[in-house]
Amino acid sequence: MNRVDYLRISLIDRCNFRCQYCMPEGAELDYILRQELLTHEEIITLLEEVFIPLGFSKFRLTGGEPLLRPDIVDLVKDIASLTATEDLSMTTNGFLLSSLAENLYKAGLNRINISLDSLNPDTFKTIIGHKKADLWQQTWLGIQAAYKVGFNPLKLNVVVIPGVNESEIEALAELSIDKNWHIRFIEFMPIGNPELFSDLEEIRFAGRAWVPSEEIREKIRQKWGLVESNIKGNGPADVFKIPGAKGTLGFISQMSECFCDRCNRMRLSADGWLRPCLLNETGQIDLKTLLRNKIKTTEIKEKVAHLLNIKPEINYKQRDSGNDTGIYNRTMSQIGG
Ligand code: SAM
Ligand code: SF4
Repeated sequence: MNRVDYLRISLIDRCNFRCQYCMPEGAELDYILRQELLTHEEIITLLEEVFIPLGFSKFRLTGGEPLLRPDIVDLVKDIASLTATEDLSMTTNGFLLSSLAENLYKAGLNRINISLDSLNPDTFKTIIGHKKADLWQQTWLGIQAAYKVGFNPLKLNVVVIPGVNESEIEALAELSIDKNWHIRFIEFMPIGNPELFSDLEEIRFAGRAWVPSEEIREKIRQKWGLVESNIKGNGPADVFKIPGAKGTLGFISQMSECFCDRCNRMRLSADGWLRPCLLNETGQIDLKTLLRNKIKTTEIKEKVAHLLNIKPEINYKQRDSGNDTGIYNRTMSQIGG
């Protein structure tokens, strides 16, 4: 079991995209009311007085779309300036990044992952559920801006959807050849939206639900060859590279492999629920209510310490325990994927 020192912090559950695997049009999403979101001060208090004393030192800001949070640059600055912060990263869809990249970099953000599922503006539109054609271009400008201001390496997250962007695996992998860009292929997970996913047949885009990582690797192997990379990430990705490439290719295989024994993280939702495991809801603690009820942070810390102790048992309860159907209730955007 790994040491748990990595906290993914969801800053907001709302998003300016409607990705079909996350917040598809038509899904019933109960957005968190503004007053229920953890405030800037509450996030900093929890980090300073609860998580950092318990050994957490790596933080990732996510969502929903974290760049929709009006205080995002100040929040980055304040978290980066905590002396215990060893690594501060963000996952974003990149749409608002072109104007924010420089300020985020200067504020102390170390690393950024940008989701980019397609290089084709039409396919991109289909995946993100928007009709406007220039959204890809704007996202691409955000990626370029991030690279230009100094986010190097830059990571691009790709969820491979059968029959939708599957044909672009090689083109996306090729982005890792000339630049120090790290492409992370993520297996699609039927998480959240139980009303849409309750019949598993419905999520079988093109006849099947996800493309196993090994199949993605094989396509790349056939074209260029593939070797294991000596650059290892923080998390669950298995990292490879095209021989001679500047960047790497990572594979996150939550559907075809179990990496629970390597789990080093917990998740804090935008409304303050601390969740020890992505795949089940056991043991969650409502930290926001404890804080707002003026429970001392020393007591909150004890509760979190207990959760850390029982996390190994919770990890292994995963997968079939989301609910009776094996479908998980909260979407990635709500949990902070
Ligand atoms: N909005 C930001 C973004 O898209 O990068 C951050 C939040 S998003 C929930 C974080 C990551 O989760 C993204 O890379 C997204 O592709 C991934 N994701 C969302 N729903 C998913 C699903 N059902 N299966 C696999 N990955 C998913
Ligand atoms: Fe928004 Fe990210 Fe979910 Fe897409 S994956 S809908 S960009 S939160």
